[in-house]
Amino acid sequence: MPDDVPFVDLAAAHAEVDRQVRAGFDRVLAATAFVQGPDVAAFEREYARFTGVAHCVGAANGTDALELALRALGAGPGTEVVLPANTFVATAEAVARAGARPVLVDARPGDLLIDPALAAAAVGPDTAAVVPVHLYGRLAPVGPLAELGPPVLEDAAQSQGAVLDGRMVAGAIAATSFYPGKNLGAYGDAGAVVTDSAELAAAVRLLGDHGSERKYRHEVVGFNSRLDTLQAVVLRAKLSRLADWNERRAAAAARYHDLLADVPGLVPPPPAGPEHVWHLYVVQVPRRDEVATRLGELGVRTGVHYPVPVHLQPAFRHLGHGPGDFPVAEAAAARILSLPMFPQITEEQQHRVAGALRKILG
Ligand SMILES: *Cc1c(COP(=O)(O)O)cnc(C)c1O
Repeated sequence: MPDDVPFVDLAAAHAEVDRQVRAGFDRVLAATAFVQGPDVAAFEREYARFTGVAHCVGAANGTDALELALRALGAGPGTEVVLPANTFVATAEAVARAGARPVLVDARPGDLLIDPALAAAAVGPDTAAVVPVHLYGRLAPVGPLAELGPPVLEDAAQSQGAVLDGRMVAGAIAATSFYPGKNLGAYGDAGAVVTDSAELAAAVRLLGDHGSERKYRHEVVGFNSRLDTLQAVVLRAKLSRLADWNERRAAAAARYHDLLADVPGLVPPPPAGPEHVWHLYVVQVPRRDEVATRLGELGVRTGVHYPVPVHLQPAFRHLGHGPGDFPVAEAAAARILSLPMFPQITEEQQHRVAGALRKILG
């Protein structure tokens, strides 16, 4: 259907930055500055300022950014990293790839973020880091986690622009993803690490650039994981819109809240303060797969973030978990449904979403 309500509308976002992006691409093409061009350093400066921290280091994608940050914190063989079971697989993947053991903990009911009491119980003498995930754009309880001892690495892939006590990074370091559908999305893969620590920033930069500070001298075995110059152009253009886009997401979330109040059986996301940047608007419904299929038939595109928690993924079978180990995450996985959410969503589109849900569940 031509007038389907899309889950995200990347074309509508592009339309707002088209001129800036094209002018930037022309500039890069003319200079052929494809790797580590001036736009990369400029974006890193601008994103650090936007985030309220001293340092930003670009990376090839968010998963690498997490792994680079973990390695900078000393996570590796013989260490453990505490993280939620209810997250995108990349959080656990980065831990495993760094050589550390993922120690999963359940979500807390309601907001489905990492439960700080369970995280406290999971911290031990070998814990190299605790990794809260600001899932759906809602800030996880970093404060209590920071008191546990090990450094906190925030997985901020879904929370660009979310501010707590005037800062975007409350832990030692945060990693983010600029995957196209994120609140700040590139036109391909990209990511970054942000921190106030000059030492951690230098370690991440060294690891991400072949372990090298000086050309052809390699201090450690590193990666090739740098932010692409063309992606930096896109990110600079979009960064200038991000605060406005996040406000529009919040307005759309408030509208959904009103529109969905009387839909039988639907549980809306719990209320949130202005720090929530609404990367996703996730409701809970009974018979979720059937509801999603019927919404699709009515022209409403949805997603599920995520249908299978990390501990039940075949890739993490070796951790020895099974069904029942993380009951909150498992119960949520069967009921969660992400509704269309993007800054340009119209009131009319949201009415169609609510109308379709009422028709199915009413
Ligand atoms: C998107 C995402 C990542 C991974 O980012 P990529 O850029 O796709 O590698 C990690 N964690 C969370 C929570 C994400 O949503």
